Amino acid sequence: MTITDQLFEAFLQCPTKCFLRAQGEPPTGNVYSDWVRGQSEAYRSAGVTRLLERLSAIGPPHGLLDPADAISANWQCAVEVLAQSQHLESHIHAVERIPSQVGRQFAQLVPIRFVRANKPNNVDKLMLAFDALALSEATGLQVAFGRIIHGDEHTSLRIKTGVLAGRVRKVIERIGKQLQTGQAPELALNRHCGECEFQARCRQKAIEIDDLSLFSGMKPEERERHRRKGIFTINQLSYTFRQRRQPRREEALGKPHYFALQALAIRENTVYVHGSPQLPDAETSVYLDIEGLSLLSTGSFDCVAGHGGVSLFLGRSTVRRDDSLYPVC
Ligand code: SF4
Repeated sequence: MTITDQLFEAFLQCPTKCFLRAQGEPPTGNVYSDWVRGQSEAYRSAGVTRLLERLSAIGPPHGLLDPADAISANWQCAVEVLAQSQHLESHIHAVERIPSQVGRQFAQLVPIRFVRANKPNNVDKLMLAFDALALSEATGLQVAFGRIIHGDEHTSLRIKTGVLAGRVRKVIERIGKQLQTGQAPELALNRHCGECEFQARCRQKAIEIDDLSLFSGMKPEERERHRRKGIFTINQLSYTFRQRRQPRREEALGKPHYFALQALAIRENTVYVHGSPQLPDAETSVYLDIEGLSLLSTGSFDCVAGHGGVSLFLGRSTVRRDDSLYPVC
């Protein structure tokens, strides 16, 4: 199966996303993801226009790159290039052709990628390295480096793609294995979910199976540790909580977050207060003014009034409308 730049990018973000894209699963929609895509495309299109103003686009301006075009000497810049080899395919934003200065050596091809963010991340760099590998395989020429044009200032960053080629090959191998087996990877919600087109589908699935990854603060290593012990769901985790004395070394670090306690709170639909809150005893009446309707709150509660007003309110109280203060006509 051909590994495309879309699958490669998806795998770097989340193996499940790569699997779903490869299976042709329809996206469940995500407004933020659509917005991000729109912004990236606008940035890329503006970048391409700027690039074409600087470099002439004679020759293969866009479309499938013919290996013969790569060595012909009549172009300097190509945009929206499709580089295809036996098992790789990449839609490259732009390719710059630098003519050789030494004798009859071939020109150098430099893939260019436009990234809207002010600071390109690892995914952006690996995507450029993937472009370089696909370009190299499609033309038979060595592609040693590429450029990322990024941010508000359109800064150009030179990346040695050859250094990243090993990592790119390993990822391609893993994608190949995943697609060959045809088995969906284990679902694990992650930081990318917020901008993924499958967010609604995966969240629904995670809720159905009560998956541990619903705890967004739980690190993958911790989740894996629980899985090795046979704990796969939040409900199972809730039975593991035992109240213990906090070890001394942990006392210095403050209160740790117990996911097992959080799971227990969810199962029992109860609020647990971690530790003993030290609240000053204050007998204070609190007046609430909601849309001009004055209410008097009475009961047993602790209220700490700071200089700027109430800063802490804890306990149980009864709130009633105080007609004596503002009689209703
Ligand atoms: S929603 Fe999250 S878990 Fe699902 S495919 Fe996207 S990134 Fe992966």
